[in-house]
Amino acid sequence: MFQSKNTVFCLILPDSNCIVKEIQKYALIGNPNVGKSTLFNQLTGLRQKTGNYPGVTVDKLSGTCTLPTQQVVEIIDLPGTYSLYPKSPDETIVLQELLNPDTKIEGIVFLADATNLKRSLLLFSQLYDLGLPIILVINKLDVAEVKQIYIDILKLQQFIPAPIVEINARAGKGIDDLKKVLATTKPKEAIPQPPIWNSDFIVKNIGTNSFLANFNSYVRLQYLHQGATWGFLTVEEKTAREKCLKANVFDSQALQSQETLARYEIITDWLTEVVNQPKPTLPTHTKSQRIDAVLLHPVGGYLIFFGLLLLIFQGVFILAEYPKGWIEFGVAWLQMQTKATLPEGVFTNLLADGILAGLGGILVFVPQIAILFLGIGFLEESGYMARAVVLMDRLLRPLGLNGRSVVPLISGLACAVPAIMATRTIPNVKERLITILVTPFMSCSARLPVYTTLIALVVPDKLIWGVFGLKGLALLAMYVLGTVMALVSALIFKWILRSTQASTLILELPAYQMPTAYNLSILVWEKSKVFVREAGKVILAISIVLWVLASYGWGDKMDIAEKQAKATFAHLPKKELENKIASVRLENSYIGQFGKLIEPAIAPLGYDWKIGIALITSFAAREVFVGTLATIYSVGDVSEDIKPLTMRLQAERNPMTEKPVYTIATAFSLMVFYAFAMQCMSTIAIVYRETKGWKYPLIQLAYMTALAYVGAWITFVLFS
Ligand code: GDP
Repeated sequence: MFQSKNTVFCLILPDSNCIVKEIQKYALIGNPNVGKSTLFNQLTGLRQKTGNYPGVTVDKLSGTCTLPTQQVVEIIDLPGTYSLYPKSPDETIVLQELLNPDTKIEGIVFLADATNLKRSLLLFSQLYDLGLPIILVINKLDVAEVKQIYIDILKLQQFIPAPIVEINARAGKGIDDLKKVLATTKPKEAIPQPPIWNSDFIVKNIGTNSFLANFNSYVRLQYLHQGATWGFLTVEEKTAREKCLKANVFDSQALQSQETLARYEIITDWLTEVVNQPKPTLPTHTKSQRIDAVLLHPVGGYLIFFGLLLLIFQGVFILAEYPKGWIEFGVAWLQMQTKATLPEGVFTNLLADGILAGLGGILVFVPQIAILFLGIGFLEESGYMARAVVLMDRLLRPLGLNGRSVVPLISGLACAVPAIMATRTIPNVKERLITILVTPFMSCSARLPVYTTLIALVVPDKLIWGVFGLKGLALLAMYVLGTVMALVSALIFKWILRSTQASTLILELPAYQMPTAYNLSILVWEKSKVFVREAGKVILAISIVLWVLASYGWGDKMDIAEKQAKATFAHLPKKELENKIASVRLENSYIGQFGKLIEPAIAPLGYDWKIGIALITSFAAREVFVGTLATIYSVGDVSEDIKPLTMRLQAERNPMTEKPVYTIATAFSLMVFYAFAMQCMSTIAIVYRETKGWKYPLIQLAYMTALAYVGAWITFVLFS
């Protein structure tokens, strides 16, 4: 087997029945909300991968799909857009991906909404005119049926000489038909039919060496309209374009409107013959509108919103408890088995106390992450999230934030990195900057391990009014605190940046529907996988470094300390003596000394040097905090049975006062610290990338660290 740039060939030997395999690439394109992700999941299942488009930060999602002929094709999910003329930076990707000679996209799977065919066909007609093979897939047939919208496919076929497939992506109906059509579509087949719309404007002087030579007149027109944003053009091609632009008297804006109107005219003519739908009557209240009256109520709406969030957070604690316990004991058992079966020595210790302890510290949070995303996914899929955006928009407007900031802010509950990328849809520069600056305050999933560990430690298992668990309430309080701080900071930044203009929010409210188990399970699986992979990488590396730093020290400092401890505590029973020795060895190790060095700075917040070590290591990523504690307390504990982290933390005493280290005051002070601190390298990196400089990430780092320190100190004093 040998591989060319994007084609895999299989050598055919005389008596083998090996078939030639070619990986063809298809772009999946459609308006926002037509069901692209749903279809993408149906086609590719778990065979998905995320990458990056060069030069921009929008994620590139692709996956493979096996056709009935056993041929494998690659599907690339492109950002949703309404027209080929982009309104936001991520929409510019669509045309670039299609025309870039390096991406080698050989055809388009176009997804249209059966309930809004007119809007879908505008983009379809533009893509069709590019001359690439295209399949028109009409989705949401079930919704169309409910609305009594009937589409005469045979008639439509008379106007559109491309394959047409009807599907219901949510229920998985028609997917096999689509795969059959994909199997028979010939890639790079030039479309012999005339374009749907023909411009009167003929592009003159395209130059001899231009890459346009292979393209039709509509692509040439796009070259004049949008070529300036095409990153793949060579310097010569760009110069040729400039010349070409000068040679053509060209009013881009006027031509675009003219084209859009002309296309709508053609499409409207088609649809009068193709679509049969009830005449609009006087507005009646649909089911969705009746539900909206309750869910968007100025008072009740907010109560329901917070009630739903509280329910999810309760679920995080209650439902995750058993799987969490199993994983905890499983990892402890593995550690014990490692120590029991492998020969005693450095490697065994590193494996058991360093790697397994650190990784176990993160694996236990998978059930909680999964439940959180199941909850968020349910709200999104059911159509509720769009309503939450409207509700929050009312709150955000007075704070100078754009209604569109709501999406990044809510995405920030998962992770600030994609959330900050999502700010690209905010056209106003200042509003976008404010959103970038405050998004990291939203409680991301990496804070969840820190919160749940500390809450489990100090908040009692009590019910309030017989229904609300105290632990869930404490967790909700942390999320509210993060959100409030984001909003207050937005006000502060609005004042500093003197942002006055607030734009309007235009949002389509999708109809309510029951989420499907298939979509939810893919979402939960993907998010958990990313969490384990991303957090796992950092934690594995840090666990190993930590273990080395905790097991060795300067000169023979650790041995001397051990001798002294043996002499001082000789009267203690054997087990206690061993614990004392382990503890003084850790204290005199490299990491112990380092923790001691910063102890005076963090003592006012209620932290000892062990917590100090975890604060430093978790600077790269918050979730490392728990993994670090797991490693540190593993190294410092010689008891025969390996206990879960919570039990170790509960048993931890201050050597001077013999009082527990993890009191309510310390735990809450730590939670507030993590709620406000910018402990995340990836966020710093993405802010640098999005603001194109170090100024804003550094301001953000300083602002958040100062807030975290002061907030943690105030919390400690209040609770002590
Ligand atoms: P995207 O924005 O184009 O990626 O759209 P999504 O795949 O996120 O779908 C938007 C919403 O439409 C989701 O709530 C889907 O469950 C829903 N959806 C997608 N396809 C269908 C369908 O065929 N029928 C119905 N009723 N809903 C669908």
